[in-house]
Amino acid sequence: MKLEFDGLSAVVTGGASGIGAAVARTLTARGATVAVLDVNPGEDGIRCDVSDDGAVRAAIDAVVARFGGIDVLVNNAGIGAAGDVAANDDAQWHRVLDVNVVGMARVTRAALPHLRKSEKAAVVNTCSIAAWQGLPNRALYSASKGAVLALTLAMATDHLDDDIRVNCVCPGTADTPWVGRLLDASADPAAERAALAARQPMGRLVTADEVAHAIAYLASPLSGSTTGTALAVDGGMYGLRPRPR
Ligand code: NAD
Repeated sequence: MKLEFDGLSAVVTGGASGIGAAVARTLTARGATVAVLDVNPGEDGIRCDVSDDGAVRAAIDAVVARFGGIDVLVNNAGIGAAGDVAANDDAQWHRVLDVNVVGMARVTRAALPHLRKSEKAAVVNTCSIAAWQGLPNRALYSASKGAVLALTLAMATDHLDDDIRVNCVCPGTADTPWVGRLLDASADPAAERAALAARQPMGRLVTADEVAHAIAYLASPLSGSTTGTALAVDGGMYGLRPRPR
């Protein structure tokens, strides 16, 4: 059977947990050779903090030395922040923007010469429903994801002539270790989980695999005419009104 990613090499940032780990599994199952770059990489990944330019360049060099090139880049590493616009100090604003936005630019900058050489080059950025919808108490995180959406469009435009497609996915609330940690920190995790599920019209959380499948589609030649798009994987959250249940 011919698989979508046969012969292609992929880099997944934040690939040791949650959505990124699901992407790494999905791309591997479909024939890709996958390098996971993560600040906390587990056994098989490359240790790399996307806020450290030297570490990013060294990691990309190591991937190219091992795989011979890079065809697919999934910029997925991200961190959260809670509170309204006044809740975080300058250092916190700089830190979250440095990881969530500049981190994507940094990894892309290092990978760009290699993506340019690929005939099936694709970049997929993990954005969020927070780029489209005012979420309560997520000012800094939302600003970072709004920037990811704009960066996706800018990159898609700038690299048309390089034949590099650039898209993003916008997950709603996805059932990952990140969300698990948020639930565990709440007063009533079961009630909080039910409340998050109820905010999504489908009445449940999105799975990491569902987000990974959308990323795999945008990364694969199956979406060959798609660039500069944001694909919602959000249980209907953006477009639909939650029904009373
Ligand atoms: P997660 O915490 O389960 O996984 C994130 C991974 O990124 C971890 O392995 C972590 O070690 C890594 N990481 C964090 N900072 C890093 C850094 N500086 N350099 C390299 N790696 C780093 O989270 P997740 O829920 O899988 O989230 C993945 C992405 O999906 C994030 O960009 C997040 O904003 C986005 N997202 C998540 C949800 C959700 O509900 N889970 C919704 C919308 C968007």
